[in-house]
Amino acid sequence: MPVTPPTRADRPPIRLLLVEDDPTHASDIGRVLRSSTEVSFKISQAVRVEDALRMLRDSHYDVVLLDLSLEEGDGLDTLARAKVAARELPIIVMTNEADEAQAVGALRAGAQDYLVKGEWNVRLVIRTLLHAVERHRILTDLAMARQREHFVATHDSLTGLFNRNAFREQVARSMAYAARNDDRMALLFLDIDGFKAINDTLGHPIGDELLKITSERLRQVVRKSDMVARLGGDEFIVILQPYDEDGGPARVAQKILHCISRPCWLSGSEYRVTGSIGIALFPRDGRDPDVLIRNADTAMYHAKAEGRNRYSYYSQEMNEAVADSLNMENGLRQAIDRGLLTVHYQPQVHVGFGAIVGAEALVRWPDPQRGMISPSDFIPMAEATGLIQPLGCLVLREACEEAARWNSDSNSSIRIGVNVSTRQLTDSSFADLVATTLRETGLPPERLELEITESSVLQERGVTLATVQQLRSLGVKITIDDFGTGYSALSALRQLPVDGLKIDRSFVTDLASDASVSTITAGLIAMANGLGLETVAEGVETIEQLTILQSQGCQRMQGYLFAKPICADEFREQLNCPNLPWQQMLPEFDA
Ligand code: C2E
Ligand code: CA
Ligand code: CA
Repeated sequence: MPVTPPTRADRPPIRLLLVEDDPTHASDIGRVLRSSTEVSFKISQAVRVEDALRMLRDSHYDVVLLDLSLEEGDGLDTLARAKVAARELPIIVMTNEADEAQAVGALRAGAQDYLVKGEWNVRLVIRTLLHAVERHRILTDLAMARQREHFVATHDSLTGLFNRNAFREQVARSMAYAARNDDRMALLFLDIDGFKAINDTLGHPIGDELLKITSERLRQVVRKSDMVARLGGDEFIVILQPYDEDGGPARVAQKILHCISRPCWLSGSEYRVTGSIGIALFPRDGRDPDVLIRNADTAMYHAKAEGRNRYSYYSQEMNEAVADSLNMENGLRQAIDRGLLTVHYQPQVHVGFGAIVGAEALVRWPDPQRGMISPSDFIPMAEATGLIQPLGCLVLREACEEAARWNSDSNSSIRIGVNVSTRQLTDSSFADLVATTLRETGLPPERLELEITESSVLQERGVTLATVQQLRSLGVKITIDDFGTGYSALSALRQLPVDGLKIDRSFVTDLASDASVSTITAGLIAMANGLGLETVAEGVETIEQLTILQSQGCQRMQGYLFAKPICADEFREQLNCPNLPWQQMLPEFDA
């Protein structure tokens, strides 16, 4: 196709403001501009300087053509005022013949170019104007590109908040400012509770959506002058400068916690999340940006450990706690290496049969100084440090050996439940490890029940799902632990390759006192039964709880009402005992 050069009609006209009080000159210029065949102009004229300034403020122009010899007064002074009103707009001045000095003065004062009156050569005038307009356009584009570039370098692309780099710089600046002015500054470090589980169960797009909602809420809740940044993942930080002495940061933290825990809609369902906040103050908690950030982070971990959905001020002792946790890690490593960990067994009973039908293996760490350390105190650390793998391997072997012994001793078919962390399931050789352990201990696969959490089956990338499927094809049973505390919808159960679920203790605890909880468990049990899944109720402590659960169709139970976790010898004794205290309490049990 032949290419035709753009014509005058194709281009938008150049908007020109002509500031000229001499009518002869004005019409001369008008004639020259109109005679161009290449460019068209939309000319507005001002005769007085005040009018020109007003027009510059109120309308848009591409270029200003300003006569430096207005009747009204000094030309350079007029130019200076026009520069202020026109900001970035190019101004071309018209000077008197041969007044070279004035022209140079005008260029120094910021005029883009000059034209000498009387030398109205069409080409020269048009070229000068076009050049000015074009140069202005390029500079504007460049400035915008720089702004964009700067924005990208300093902002988080997902949420539009400041990123880690911009934030570090800002902390350093705020600290310097506070130090100079003897002022205070606070850092609030926010982390969304259980974000990883949300991301894993609901998928990354929904996780991203949640991060966006959270950032928006954060932005709304703090003052305009406070800086909000996303450090990455689900970590956010707010700089308060200055803050009110009497509990200012705590008040802001409370407001943030309140507003992020409001329900939010994610892909058609309502969710509620909470956050934990650590607060560090300048100068009290650190005079170096990295130290202050680290201390706010430490305080945030403390808030999480205290039960989440709360804030915590940093204190010196927290660093000691960090040191403690390092000691603990070394201690656990040694305990694993020296075979000091033991396994306890908590009976699982069938209330219809009035018999022990299974047990859950629960790891125990006896420490000479600290006594028996609870798994809740060290399992999270073991997961975070990778120690969960050797630990899990030990518990699995010990539990399988023990269960194989029960089954051959009493000819019974007691099932052993073993807890498995997500970290173990993401290891592609885990199914092989289980297969080898079963072979070597002689435990039939269907006697082993692996307890995993909702979020670990629903891992988006399918790694754990593949492992779960391999395990099931070995004949091993898979149960979802702590069911109801995760984020998966009940309807998702249908698609999960699992054999049963354990109703979380938190439901069982409130069962007798809260009617809405019993409605939930009734629905859960009915649904699970309908899908052919077995339910086990955890943490049953009272007869009332037992009765309600049984009436709702749940027969397998575990809890202090029957027995606490006990050592292997004691458990074997119970297995062989003809009458256990709890058996007498069973409503429909006839011994
Ligand atoms: P879990 O899997 O939910 O285990 C049940 C916990 O509830 C056990 O705590 C048990 O002692 C406790 N429990 C049982 N019945 C009752 C009751 O009636 N009332 C109350 N208040 N508590 C009851 P434990 O032994 O302290 O274990 C805590 C958690 O540590 C376990 O929770 C499990 O998530 C984890 N864990 C324990 N052993 C292992 C292990 O070998 N591997 C892994 N990955 N995690 C383990
Ligand atoms: Ca469990
Ligand atoms: Ca559990």
